[in-house]
This record gives sequence, structure tokens and C-alpha cells, in this order.
Amino acid sequence: MIPFLDLKKVNQQYRSELIEACTRVIDSGWYIKGREVEAFESAFSEYCGVKHCVGVANGLDALTLVLRAWKEQGKLVDGDEVIVSANTYIASILAITENNLIPVLVEPDPQTFNVSVDEIAKSLTQKTRVIMPVHLYGRMVDMPSIMALANKHDLLVIEDAAQAHGASINGVKAGAWGHAAGFSFYPGKNLGALGDAGAVTTNDSELAKLVATLGNYGSLKKYVNDYVGVNSRLDEIQAAILSVKLKYLDSEIETRRTVASLYCSSIENELLVLPYEDSESVLGDKSHVWHLFVVKSEKRDDLARYMRDGGVSTLIHYPIPPHKQQAFSTMNAICYPVTEAIHSQVLSLPTGPVSEADELDRVIDLCNSFK
Ligand SMILES: *Cc1c(COP(=O)(O)O)cnc(C)c1O
Repeated sequence: MIPFLDLKKVNQQYRSELIEACTRVIDSGWYIKGREVEAFESAFSEYCGVKHCVGVANGLDALTLVLRAWKEQGKLVDGDEVIVSANTYIASILAITENNLIPVLVEPDPQTFNVSVDEIAKSLTQKTRVIMPVHLYGRMVDMPSIMALANKHDLLVIEDAAQAHGASINGVKAGAWGHAAGFSFYPGKNLGALGDAGAVTTNDSELAKLVATLGNYGSLKKYVNDYVGVNSRLDEIQAAILSVKLKYLDSEIETRRTVASLYCSSIENELLVLPYEDSESVLGDKSHVWHLFVVKSEKRDDLARYMRDGGVSTLIHYPIPPHKQQAFSTMNAICYPVTEAIHSQVLSLPTGPVSEADELDRVIDLCNSFK
């Protein structure tokens, strides 16, 4: 069976360096808030082209803590509205509801799967304070337009960059466009730890300090607590691992792009809709890092079964849209037709950075012979 993403094989490539990094942490006798976290924060902020990176426990916390910090600063109050894509992963929305803010779900563009500035503009109300663009599947949202809209209406922008490490528009990376961004380093993400990890990036020094404080029990000085904080810290050991893997991120992204362009040029079947071509996109060919290669088909479930019978694992991102989840029962009756169509039609093909040529050929052959 060809795996969807062979994480063991991904990490095996860096095995000796990862072991060296872990050994260094074990032997240091220092496991929380030390040199490794500092080193990774500085390497990742440099990579993203921002002034600050604050390591946190996971991607959900990264998003949650930024919104929380804006509340502490008085920029947001309970009941303010946050605009977010209706077809995102549920974490984006949980970060909003966790802060007693109101998620306003916006339909995506059916071609790019991302929110468009026109749809966002239609959803603005007196209570809108924040836009949360989600760079879904690794494809960046049109950030120049979003920032222009946000500036015009004096709104805050937090990028959900959990799937888009290293993507850029006009040379400016995901995580450097908004007033802040949340990243996840969940093992399956393009930059993945060997456990849970996340980070906030921002150019706002006050915000960075506040996020770090809130994630450390609301304490800047040991045993002095200024805020009702939480415990959300990046471990030394995950930071050391991430510093190793960050060095290879760009080359892994290049491999993903090669796989994606091979799929785009070789898969031809009228039952499958391939991802919208970014080479012609105004956002440029660096705006997509292919975290996921997502095709659409009205016969999606048959296609998934056909792929599995042919020995290829696929996944669905995501089978149930957030507004249809039991967790958000108050939204269950609302209808988002574009989002619902996407959820019933999408299928993600293997695009991992360690796929072999014969594996890719098998994926392509199956896609082409599906009837
Ligand atoms: C993975 C993901 C998150 C959450 O990250 P965790 O580290 O799993 O908490 C948030 N948003 C999106 C779009 C994601 O893909």
C-alpha cells in the first residue's frame, strides 16, 4: 500500500541529526524555556521575515493566544466578530469561540478553496474586528487584497498559517502579512515536530511579549502572575528537532512542487478536477507549498475506493465542515453550499516529500484509469 504520508521515512532522512539534537537536550539538563527554544524562535522568525516568533504548545494555542492577547490589550471584547473561511479545519474556529468571539463563516472561492476579499467584504458588520485568512492546503490567500481591506476598515488580521510554512507572495512569506500569524508543527505539517508544537509570528513586540506571557501562566517574571494565563510552551526537545527540520524545509517544498506539477501535467480524466493552476495566478508560483494536493470529483467516494483497491492511500480534508459538526450545533442549520460541495467532493492524493517515482506513477495511472 502506498501511504498518504510516510512520516517515518520523512524523519529517517534526518535521523542522525535528530538524535544528536535530542541527545544535546537530554544532556543539557534543561527542558523548558531554554536555549533550544530561543534558537528555534530566532531561526523561524528569520525564515518568515518577521521580528518575533513565540513558540507555543500547538497550532490551536498559537491562534487562541493571539486573540486572547488582543482581548487583554482591549482591542477585542466578548461578542466581536472574526471573519474566517467556512471550509477550514475546525481549529481555526475553536480559537475564536474559545475567546468568546463570534466566528463569521465565509464561503470560499470554489476554484482556490480560499476566501476571496469580495466575499469577506460582503460579511463585514459593525462588530467585525478581525479577519482570519486560512492558507488552506498550503495555498496562500490573496493577502495584498486582504490587508488593503483590513487597513481600510481598521481590522486586525491573524493568518492561520498552519498549512503554509514557507509560502510567499511577492517575496513576503506566510506569517509576515497579517498583524500576527499562528503556525502548527503537528508531525504531518510541512514543518513537523515529533509531537505537538506551534508558534506565533508577528512584527508587534508588545504582542509577542504578551503571547509569551499568557502562554507561561501569565507570568513574565517567575512566580509573579500578571494575567490569568495558561501553560502553552514549546518544549526544548521539540524546538531542537524543529531547528534541524527547518534547514530542510525549502528543499522539501521544492519536492512537493515537483510532485504537484507532475500530477498537474500527467493526470487527465474528466471525472477529476485538478487544483487551480497557480503558475497563472496573480499571487505567483511561490504562493503554494502543496501541503495537500486536493482534487475534486463528483464521484469522490468511488474514486477513494478505486485508489485504495489499487494500493494508494488517500485522505479527505475534511469530511464534515465545521458548521455541520455536533460541536457547533447552533450553526448546523445554516447552509453554506460552496463549502458543503467542497467537503463532499475533495480527495487528497499523496504528495509527501519522500514519494518514489514508481509510487507517483501508480497514483497517476489510477487517477487516469478511473471510470
Ligand atoms: C493543523 C491545523 C491547525 C491546528 O494545529 P494543531 O497544532 O494541530 O493544534 C489549525 N489550523 C489549520 C488550518 C490546521 O491545518
